[in-house]
Amino acid sequence: MTSHASGHNAGGISAPHVSQSVEFWPLEEHSTKLYQGLGCKEGFDFDYTVSGSMVLFTKEKDTALLKNELQIFRAKSQASGDFLTKSEVKENEPNLSVENICGAYYYPDDAQGSSVKLGQCFATACADREVKMSVGTELMRFEVRNEGKTEKKIESVVTNHGSIHPKTVVIAAGPWSGKIASMAGIKIPVEPVKGHLIITLKTKEKILRSFILGPNYYFLQSHEGSVVVGGGEDSVGFDTSLIDSRVREAWSEGSIFLPIIQSLGQDSKIACLRPYCSDGLPIIGNSTQYDNLIFATGHFRSGFSLAPVTGKIVSELICEGNTTLDIKAFTPGRFSA
Ligand SMILES: Cc1cc2nc3c(=O)[nH]c(=O)nc-3n(C[C@H](O)[C@H](O)[C@H](O)COP(=O)(O)OP(=O)(O)OC[C@H]3O[C@@H](n4cnc5c(N)ncnc54)[C@H](O)[C@@H]3O)c2cc1C
Repeated sequence: MTSHASGHNAGGISAPHVSQSVEFWPLEEHSTKLYQGLGCKEGFDFDYTVSGSMVLFTKEKDTALLKNELQIFRAKSQASGDFLTKSEVKENEPNLSVENICGAYYYPDDAQGSSVKLGQCFATACADREVKMSVGTELMRFEVRNEGKTEKKIESVVTNHGSIHPKTVVIAAGPWSGKIASMAGIKIPVEPVKGHLIITLKTKEKILRSFILGPNYYFLQSHEGSVVVGGGEDSVGFDTSLIDSRVREAWSEGSIFLPIIQSLGQDSKIACLRPYCSDGLPIIGNSTQYDNLIFATGHFRSGFSLAPVTGKIVSELICEGNTTLDIKAFTPGRFSA
């Protein structure tokens, strides 16, 4: 269930940020609340921690301007956020080198968790409810038997383990969603964009409290004690091999802002693919082409953050036929999908 990016991500759970496009804010707000509920739900131990996050500023931008930007954001989004001076950054995160930092935005509601553990929690919850899961099953093609009729439906999903005749089909195949949609004759502009994670050896020492967003890469400490340096956006197709120059660059930025990682040393490195949609927004909602097809894809760098709200929207669409959330900006119809 958590193969690919859903099991190999940084585990950051983001509330609205100043830098995000405004369409994301209601989704992030809703997902943050759903995570807060999941975090204290029995049987859902996925290392959920409200750690907060810091976005570091390295360029001497006018502090007054940054504070003003934050004030406008808070008024529009109702979200929390503070401006931290260089010395406040150091006070909160003593292991950060603040030599190149002129300040930071601090988002207290941001959190962290393990997507692998969360996936396991959901798998157990599904098994308890006798949900049939078919792991290792590959979708080969769709069969559309009632073409020409006014009601256009996907009748069967043909897999390497036989055919399924579903009431509803949800395309949620990450960077492969474009390929899968094309099997139904639909074009969606979702492409793979590679990201890297460098994981240090574990330490018992508390190195970082919050999720730190540096100029190009981010840094966090996992529940197990490793420091993770991650990021990078490389459009190189479906290849998941490491790009050495990217790893070097990430480690070098990490070493500047968090010099202690050099003494910890690297344990492992991984590259994985994010699903990027050409307009930067996810595709969530009913297809305009088939009556029983729903899309939930293109979440790019926010797929873990937005997983609960996406699940809620999809379940409402399936069970109620509509959703209580405003998903106009994410509709598949914007690509005639
Ligand atoms: C390095 C890195 C760090 C990240 N950090 C964060 C973070 O901190 N916070 C955050 O919110 N997001 C983060 N993300 C983004 C997030 O991980 C993704 O947006 C999210 O995992 C996408 O989930 P998905 O289910 O859409 O796609 P995926 O996780 O890619 O899953 C797609 C699934 O579709 C399956 N599939 C494909 N083709 C077929 C087929 N023909 N038949 C059957 N199954 C098929 C695949 O096997 C796979 O299981 C990160 C991503 C990366 C790469």
